[in-house]
Amino acid sequence: MRGRCGGTSDAARAAFYALFSLQHRGQESAGLASADGRGVRVHKGLGLVSRAFSEADVEALTGGLAIGHARYSTTGEPSLRNAQPFYVETMHGPLALAHNGNLVNAAELRRAMLERGVGLASSSDTEVMVMMLAAARGDSWPERIASCMRSWRGAFSFVVLTRDAAYAARDPWGFRPLCAARLPGGGSAAASESCALLTLGCAAVYDVGPGRVVELSPDGPVDRGGVDAEPSASCVFEYVYFSRPDSVWNGVPVHEARKRFGAALALESPADADLVIAVPDSSISAAIGYAQASGLPYDEGFAKSRYIGRTFIQPTQALRDQGVALKFNAMPAAVRGRRVVVVDDSIVRGTTTGPLVRLLREAGAAEVHVRIACPPIRYPCYMGVDMGPADGLVARRLSVEEIREAVGADSLAYLSLDGMTRALAEAGGGAGFGFCSACFSGDYPIDVGGAAGKNGFEVI
Ligand code: AMP
Repeated sequence: MRGRCGGTSDAARAAFYALFSLQHRGQESAGLASADGRGVRVHKGLGLVSRAFSEADVEALTGGLAIGHARYSTTGEPSLRNAQPFYVETMHGPLALAHNGNLVNAAELRRAMLERGVGLASSSDTEVMVMMLAAARGDSWPERIASCMRSWRGAFSFVVLTRDAAYAARDPWGFRPLCAARLPGGGSAAASESCALLTLGCAAVYDVGPGRVVELSPDGPVDRGGVDAEPSASCVFEYVYFSRPDSVWNGVPVHEARKRFGAALALESPADADLVIAVPDSSISAAIGYAQASGLPYDEGFAKSRYIGRTFIQPTQALRDQGVALKFNAMPAAVRGRRVVVVDDSIVRGTTTGPLVRLLREAGAAEVHVRIACPPIRYPCYMGVDMGPADGLVARRLSVEEIREAVGADSLAYLSLDGMTRALAEAGGGAGFGFCSACFSGDYPIDVGGAAGKNGFEVI
């Protein structure tokens, strides 16, 4: 971001607030870099934004330009050496970069770089990006950014900070969201999700187009070129789970998309039941949609410890298992003696659903009908969602009936891919809106053959 926000000219403070609105996207580490026309300063720390920064850390990041990042690892372990933004000195001055996504050709690019004698200090694909940018040819940063974008394949929404400019750019397929806006006090900002720009008081938020490079200028975002767009492949899982419900992407409000997923699920797979509950927070919109379409009352069936973090962001299975038990209590007053429909947004590894069904039964639910507001996930994502390796995906190993049995539900149904596609179109994803649903269908929009896997660059 560039410019004033909330009465302060420190861009880092505004970026810091924006990171809180993006905390759901990554909780492993957080970082900020600021620039004041002469140099670039960086601070990074492990864990939540609130843990990674003290007041003094933010205070020290002076200057009218800043970029920030909250990390959820898709390539490279969740350690400090992989935290972002990455920072290097280049022949054109200091350079910092923060990246949302995952390059599928990082292994090939990394090998070529190491063979040329370039040393690397992390196991992240993002460091490969920053080192390529440092060495890129071109007369300006936008030219150098575009020239690198031609070599990168995969998902890369990213921001770049130099000593006197900030840029935001998006891969030509538009896998991950990236939006920009003019700041109310002057200047511009870009973020992965519109909710963060609303936090900063921005009004006219727009999507950065696939392949575009945008400068965050003092007068608002300005297009500075880019590369040709490919057929659009917006990640459908952003609508299923990842994005915050108050974000809007491709003109589709996430809450609205989820409600329509729930409504479509109710029509496809009704249940003879007394009430509908959600697994907070990510399935609340879908559960409301299911309840409205089925005419069943919606109630709160679980209380959630909201400060423990998203279970999937815990990187090991042992931590994830513990996370489920520590995170939810069922509410007997709501579910005792009732036939309950529990709507969840997705089943990935299958760790969460079984314990949730057990909690409901222990709380006295007479029947538990599980409804999942997306199709079975059978294929791993290489474009920025860590679903783990293919053999960890429960729907790849087991049929729907076998999963029902394993989780102990009275019935289990998923939304169909057709139902989801129709719901997205109804929610506003009209002409020119193409999405990637490879996690459900296995139809990857790009060749993912060379993808390295999450820990492909670990040394030990
Ligand atoms: P599980 O099936 O135990 O892996 O957990 C699935 C639940 O975690 C879903 O209901 C989602 O709320 C959430 N989740 C979403 N995306 C992921 C992901 N990439 N990996 C694991 N869990 C996820």
